[in-house]
Amino acid sequence: MQYRPTIGLEVHAELKTRTKMFCGCANDPDEERPNANACPVCLAHPGTLPVINRAAVKHMLRIGTAIGGKLADFSEFDRKSYFYPDIPKGYQISQYEHPLVLGGELSGVAITRVHLEEDTARSIHAKGKSHVDFNRAGIPLMELVTEPVIHDAETAGRFARELQLLLRTLGAGEANLEKGEMRIEANISVSNKEGAFGTKVEVKNLNSFRSVERAIAFEIERQTALIESGGKVVQETRGWDEAKQSTFHQRFKEGSADYRYFPEPDLPKLFLSEVPEFSREAIRASLPELPWERRERYRHAYALKESDAAYLCAAPERAEFFDAVTVALDKAKEPVALAANYLVSDLAGIYAKKGFEEYAALDPLAFAKLIRLALSGELSSRGAKDTLFILTEKGGDPEAIARERGLMQVHDPVALTEAVKSVLGEEAKAVEEYHAGKTAALQYLLGKSMKATRGAGNPVVLKEILVAELG
Ligand code: ADP
Ligand code: ZN
Ligand code: MG
Repeated sequence: MQYRPTIGLEVHAELKTRTKMFCGCANDPDEERPNANACPVCLAHPGTLPVINRAAVKHMLRIGTAIGGKLADFSEFDRKSYFYPDIPKGYQISQYEHPLVLGGELSGVAITRVHLEEDTARSIHAKGKSHVDFNRAGIPLMELVTEPVIHDAETAGRFARELQLLLRTLGAGEANLEKGEMRIEANISVSNKEGAFGTKVEVKNLNSFRSVERAIAFEIERQTALIESGGKVVQETRGWDEAKQSTFHQRFKEGSADYRYFPEPDLPKLFLSEVPEFSREAIRASLPELPWERRERYRHAYALKESDAAYLCAAPERAEFFDAVTVALDKAKEPVALAANYLVSDLAGIYAKKGFEEYAALDPLAFAKLIRLALSGELSSRGAKDTLFILTEKGGDPEAIARERGLMQVHDPVALTEAVKSVLGEEAKAVEEYHAGKTAALQYLLGKSMKATRGAGNPVVLKEILVAELG
């Protein structure tokens, strides 16, 4: 029997704005003092009224345009009613019938809708007490829902990473999973009937891309084994246990909860096509180069490998740094390819450990100069790499650094002749062999001469001098 897994994702992401979604409180995810950013509006005091954050709407329209979705001409907010301490109004302002964006596609995955809502307060349960921190309450939150068109864990992981990269590229959000800025719920089902879906299970608290992939893989296995052994998958919400690397039952879906959605009467309707700032052309023109466009450009302009282009584009800061280097190298193919090679193979480890502040220490102009020195042969490949590591730590001028440490290639015939003569004086046996016609002896003497210059001698010049001196 064939088992076909199906996955659909629901992603929430906090949007980066100066103020919250419906009030003037700061939207500051790094605020550590509880309830520092709270006001009568986001605390739901009676008589207060919400005001729509224009910047949040704009982020949504830019996201919608980037994924090729349909931007709404008309949109509105709805009240989603439920009772919980993290939602003091007794309802969340969300969107229901008229989301800002419908359809679209990202990383080959079809998107159902993207809507805008407000984040809830954070509940903290500790030592038998519950606390509520309202700093998060009312932060603009994007909800993106995909179609059930994913069939394996890797595709889900790739999609989620691409979404994070898109949000960062657009400046729409930091989307750190570890910080809860982006929260992913995975719906997973396994079918053993052609053309029919199985019962889906929803998995929550996935705090990293890794756990998204592992939880999906775990559920596919669990459900498949269950069906195989004659059991039935029940519709439920499960959590991900990071320590046990398994999912566990949290609660059953009690039918669909009745949220009593209805249009928010305290907010105006949005006739988006009538706002010049929100016209499709204006929004499109405001978009930066998108991650997939950038990858294609790197591949075509500089003949980079797909995986190298992906690495360089995987973080906007890194891609921006690389772009600055390409400009400093006049976008010439060969030097840019060498720069890419250094970034991918030599610097990747350092940056994985130290993070992107390193790119600030390494000046693109200095890096470009280093590439030129390496390509012209003035710096050996070894010398270039040593200099590069010093640049990433301290910055500075690559030529000065290389000279100071004797890493620049020496072409000066006087200095090189001196080195050759001292080698010939010590290597009488090899000299004899050379005169007896052993060609390997020349290679040996060249090696010794290189060593005598501490690897800095230009090999071509050294060889000429060596042959001349040997007579
Ligand atoms: P619900 O009404 O339970 O919220 P939706 O139809 O709104 O379900 O879908 C919610 C999410 O679940 C979407 O991401 C969708 O792609 C996904 N989904 C729907 N059906 C399935 C299924 N059979 N298997 C896996 N995912 C599914
Ligand atoms: Zn407020
Ligand atoms: Mg739904």
